Amino acid sequence: MMATAAPLCSLENYLVLPDHTMDQRIAAVRKVLGRESVILGHHYQRDEVIRFADYRGDSYKLSQLAAQAAGRYIVFCGVHFMAESADILGRPGQVTILPDLNAGCSMADMAEITQVEDCWEHLVAAGLTSDSGEGITPITYMNSSAAIKAFCGERGGVVCTSSNAAGAFQWGFEKNSKLLFLPDQHLGRNTGYRMGIPLDEMIVWDPYQEMGGNKPEAIRRARIILWKGYCSVHQRFTPQHVARVRREHPGIRVIVHPECRFEVAQAADEIGSTEGIIKAVKSSPKGTEWAVGTEIHLVNRLGKELQDHKVISLDPSVCVCTTMFRITPQHLLWALENLGEGQVVNRISVDERTRYYARLALDRMLTLR
Ligand code: SF4
Repeated sequence: MMATAAPLCSLENYLVLPDHTMDQRIAAVRKVLGRESVILGHHYQRDEVIRFADYRGDSYKLSQLAAQAAGRYIVFCGVHFMAESADILGRPGQVTILPDLNAGCSMADMAEITQVEDCWEHLVAAGLTSDSGEGITPITYMNSSAAIKAFCGERGGVVCTSSNAAGAFQWGFEKNSKLLFLPDQHLGRNTGYRMGIPLDEMIVWDPYQEMGGNKPEAIRRARIILWKGYCSVHQRFTPQHVARVRREHPGIRVIVHPECRFEVAQAADEIGSTEGIIKAVKSSPKGTEWAVGTEIHLVNRLGKELQDHKVISLDPSVCVCTTMFRITPQHLLWALENLGEGQVVNRISVDERTRYYARLALDRMLTLR
């Protein structure tokens, strides 16, 4: 049994290590750990980190892989909510480690549990739902804290990913005539609109304003209440970027992530989740030119790997997820070498009650069509 006390090796000593020493030391400690440890890498991780990953994927795929992995120690090179999901879906006895605890997600942080509870109380007081969710189905994007997932699970709601959001909305509407969608307004709006819901039947709930900044009549009329959250990476893309890339590269295809603004999604040729973008680009005929609206590390990697295609970023100024970027090979080495010394550092552990209800919402997602 490994201890979780203070690390034997201090992180500060690792952060100054030169990059060229990483390969050898990471390989050496992995040999010691053998199949006990599994490294997961999100597609948005920098190249210097993702090359050590046993598995690559988007947040949900990685959480599922974590649960299936033989290893007891899951070293998750991603952000905090992803490591929480891996811990929730993991097998008993599995330990999830996030190499840098500061690797959060600005979008997930935009929906704090107290704010969401406050919003719900207002909706209950307005007579639009019962506390347990008869009236409004709460749905949260995978990119949210375990507490928000549990909030939805406890009130009859569900978690969704960017690839099954429409199925989740359909499921939610079969239960109630109204949805509360957390925390990404853009994914919610893009999904609702593609399902035929007019824009004026979707309102935005701003947690910093009284009644979310809405009139009672607007809340009553709304079919979808969108939480006022966004991804700072994907919200950077604008319709002007789409117009410019089409002007400069006639015939180019534009594909964007559904976390992009509504106007950008409307101007694009295709919308795709992270895995959806990879699939669309890889399966396109040789010679196809693509402008991709998502995180730059994934776009650059696709460009390098697919020499028969031309892949560029929709925005020439760099669109990095700065929190994902926090994880460096030095952080990874620190976590691994501590494990090699019998010490668990940066463990992500979700409490039992939260785990129970969050798991309920995640399991409901698996039943979606
Ligand atoms: S890309 Fe956006 S949604 Fe994804 S982890 Fe970074 S900030 Fe969060």
